[in-house]
Amino acid sequence: MDLRDTICALSTAPGRSGIAVVRVSGPESFELLARIFHSQKSMDPRRATLGLSLDPRSGAEIDETIVTCFPAPNSYTGEDVAEFSLHGSPVLVSALLDCLCAQGARLAEPGEFTMRAFLNGRMDLSQAEAVRDVIEATTLFQAQVASRQRSGEIARQMQPVKDLVVDIIVNLESAVEFVEENLPLESREQLAGKLEKVQKELSVWIDSYRRGRIIRDGFSLAIVGRPNVGKSSLFNALLAQDRSIVTEIPGTTRDWVSEFTNLEGIPVRLVDTAGLRTPEDRVEQLGVDRSMRVMADADAILLVVDTSQPPSAEDEELRERLEGLSCIVVMNKSDLPVVWPPERKECYAGGHSAVEVSALTGTNIDGLKKAILSRLFGEAGPQRDGILVTNLRHCQCLEAAQKALSRAATALRQGLSEEFVLVDLHAGLNKLGAITGETSVEDLLGEIFSRFCIGK
Ligand code: GDP
Repeated sequence: MDLRDTICALSTAPGRSGIAVVRVSGPESFELLARIFHSQKSMDPRRATLGLSLDPRSGAEIDETIVTCFPAPNSYTGEDVAEFSLHGSPVLVSALLDCLCAQGARLAEPGEFTMRAFLNGRMDLSQAEAVRDVIEATTLFQAQVASRQRSGEIARQMQPVKDLVVDIIVNLESAVEFVEENLPLESREQLAGKLEKVQKELSVWIDSYRRGRIIRDGFSLAIVGRPNVGKSSLFNALLAQDRSIVTEIPGTTRDWVSEFTNLEGIPVRLVDTAGLRTPEDRVEQLGVDRSMRVMADADAILLVVDTSQPPSAEDEELRERLEGLSCIVVMNKSDLPVVWPPERKECYAGGHSAVEVSALTGTNIDGLKKAILSRLFGEAGPQRDGILVTNLRHCQCLEAAQKALSRAATALRQGLSEEFVLVDLHAGLNKLGAITGETSVEDLLGEIFSRFCIGK
C-alpha cells in the first residue's frame, strides 16, 4: 500500500440509492477533479458545486454531480480530498471510479482513508478505531459510546494517568543523572505511592472492559427450564413479537431458536432452548444436548420455573446444573394462583436474583429487563459516561502497562537500582501510548484498518 498514491472509493453503501458519494484523497485529487468535473461555477473549498462529470477519454457524460473539495490539511485524511455526489446507481459509480483510475488514482484499501487520517495526525488511533465502531453500531446507545471515543475522549481521559507516570520517570531520571548516591528511602516510598495511584486508576479502566465489551459486542441470553414453564412465551414477550411457537404440548421447541433484540440500547441475542427434561426420543435428546451447549456459551441465563405448579425434581436438577453460572430465576405464570410457598421460592433462588413475571399478560417483563441489565452491569445499569474501555486491544495494552508498572513498583520497594525501575516505567508508558497510537503500533496498523469497510 503506497500512501503517496491518490486513492478513490465509493464511501456510501454499495447498491442502488438516491445518492452515492465517491471520495478521492491524495496529492492528485484536485488535478483529477479538474479533468473529470465541469461546472460553470467557481469551486470554493468546503462548498458544494453542481456540474457534470465527463469521461476525459471520450467526453461522454457520466452524471450530473455535486462536488465538494476539502484542501489539505483541513480534510478527513489531512490530504486534498474531493467528494463526488452522484445518483446512486452502481453503473454510474463504477464508470466514475473507472475514470478516476484511468487518470491515475487507485482503488482504496479497506480503512485506508481513516488510516491516512491517523498517519497524518488528524486523529489518534483510538479515534480511528472508534470510527469503525460508529459505523458498526447496531443501536443508538452503541453509536453514542463510539462517538465519544471518536471525539478523542480516550486520549483526554488517559492524559492525567500518563502525566503521572511521566512525573515518576522524570523524578527517577534526575536522580540517576544528578545524585551520586541512590535515591533516599523516603523518596522511593513517595514514588511507589504515586505509582500505586496510577495502578489503581488503570484497574478502573481494565475493570470497565467487562461492561464495555458487552456494550460494544452485545451479549447472549439463554432461556432454559423444563417443558411448558413458558420459555417460548417469555422469549416472545422479551422480543415483543410472536417468534417462537407457544403450545400447551410439552416438548414443542425441539431445538434452540434465536433472535436479536436490544435492552436499553445493548444488543442481545436471545436464545429459546428446548425444554430440559429426560428425553423421550433421540430428537429430543439431541435438542437437550444442544440446549446444554447454548447454556454454557451464554453470557447470562434465565432459568424459568412455573410457580402455578408444584416444584418438580426437574426444576431442582436444573438449578444444580446452573450452579456457578450467571443466572436469573424467572418465576413465571404469576397471573395464576402461586402454589410455591414463599420460603420455597427464596430457597430455590438461592444466591441468584429472582423475578416474578407473567409472560402471558406481560406483567413485570420490564422488571425482568431491569434485573438482566443489573446482573450484567451492576445496579447503575449500562452507563455511557465515565471511563469505559470497549476495545480488546486497549484492554490488552492497559493490562500490559499494569504489569510493567507493578514490576516497577516492586523494584522500587525492593531497593533495586533506578535503571531497573525505569525500564519497566518506560515499558508501561509505551503500552499506554500504544492505545492512542503514539508508540509502537506500526505492525498493528494493517490488522486494525483491514477490518474497516472500503471507502472509510
Ligand atoms: P415452553 O415449553 O416452556 O416454551 O412453554 P410455552 O411458552 O410453550 O408455554 C406453555 C403453556 O403455558 C402455553 O399454553 C402458554 O400459553 C402457557 N403460558 C406461558 N406463560 C404463561 C403465563 O405467564 N401465564 C399463563 N397463565 N400461562 C402461560
